[in-house]
Amino acid sequence: MNVFKFGGASINSIERIENVGKIIKSFGSEKILIIISAMGKTTNALEKVVDAFFAGNQKEALDLFEAIKNEHNYVLQQLIKKESSSLKDFYTEIEWLLHDKPVRAYDYYYDQIVCCGELLSTALVSAYFNEIEITNNWVDVRDILRTDNNFRDAIVDWDFTKTKITETIVPLFEKTNLVLTQGFIGATDENESTTLGREGSDYSAAIFANMLNAKSLTIWKDVEGVMNADPKEFADAQIINYLSYNEVIEMAYYGAQVIHPKTIKPLQNKQIPLYVKCFLNKDLPGTTIDNKVAHNLPPIIVVKQQQVLLQLSSKDFSFVGEAYVSKLYELFAALKIKPNLTQNGAISILCCLDDKPDKIEKLALSAAEYFDVLVEKNLTLLTIRYYSKEKFDELTKDKKILLTQQTTETIQALLH
Ligand code: ASP
Ligand code: MG
Repeated sequence: MNVFKFGGASINSIERIENVGKIIKSFGSEKILIIISAMGKTTNALEKVVDAFFAGNQKEALDLFEAIKNEHNYVLQQLIKKESSSLKDFYTEIEWLLHDKPVRAYDYYYDQIVCCGELLSTALVSAYFNEIEITNNWVDVRDILRTDNNFRDAIVDWDFTKTKITETIVPLFEKTNLVLTQGFIGATDENESTTLGREGSDYSAAIFANMLNAKSLTIWKDVEGVMNADPKEFADAQIINYLSYNEVIEMAYYGAQVIHPKTIKPLQNKQIPLYVKCFLNKDLPGTTIDNKVAHNLPPIIVVKQQQVLLQLSSKDFSFVGEAYVSKLYELFAALKIKPNLTQNGAISILCCLDDKPDKIEKLALSAAEYFDVLVEKNLTLLTIRYYSKEKFDELTKDKKILLTQQTTETIQALLH
């Protein structure tokens, strides 16, 4: 058995959905669990629905949702001749909610509304597969993947989910070759929908691969494979054909937009190889990620924009020892902030963070109880793994370097 994950870009047009059908047909009677994201930019569009609803703009929320419905209905009509009602129940679920007034927290509504992106996309693709005689079983993953109620960043209940997969998905594969379900979403023990964090469907796919003891996980993308830099920014970006789990975890940690950072652990734990392949040309080799150490890697470049530097200094010239550092990390945990880089000095701590304005403001305010706080915005964090001095100089030329940090493998510079 294998697990495939198709991202939103792979189904964002009629041709691309047809292409997914062709890819699946080319695998004949192999058993495949297929995880699909929301179509195109649907998740972003649904976020706008949530914002409007939560701000009390019911009409705007319903209009925005209507546009999402139209888009899905159009695609469905193009792909399916028969009259199909497969999406209506999901629409109704959301519209009911939108007719209410918000009384619970934002994150709760976010998950109840945003989850419909993957329900719609998978129902649509499943109906299309039936149309072209690819027999498949559609599963609502909310009956399988159990999480806590930490909405928008829910933690998976590993034991419950494993039992459900063993009881329901494994027997399903005795009767069928293809099971189609959603990434990114789950549900609590009270049947409330939850999400695992943006781009979380890679992680869902890895969870299924782990629990089904899959032979491999393939993530189908619109690029040839994992590149050493963002090809939109670096014309000489090159594909890397082999990477280790370790390397990918590091790349994701430093902010490379390759694969959701949580994806690797479930695969590594069971030594399941991960293939990153191009859905536009399935015969390209792509990237293989497994336990083997890759040699002669090119410099791997990650650029994170919109960075903030927080300089926290002790108020009375005392050393910033463990007590201060742990206070700061308590604040990070409370605000769910992950610093991208920190550097400690005698009487100050520097930290570089993503610029999420409300979080940064809260952090700066809370930290002001213990420190003098300075905030500098609009910075860029450059990370190079397997760097050379020449590469570093080339990429930092004409830029003001605010701080650097380096190990033998990795160099990071915060740039103005
Ligand atoms: N649809 C979700 C998102 O855009 C999850 C995913 O695609 O992985 O973040
Ligand atoms: Mg995606």
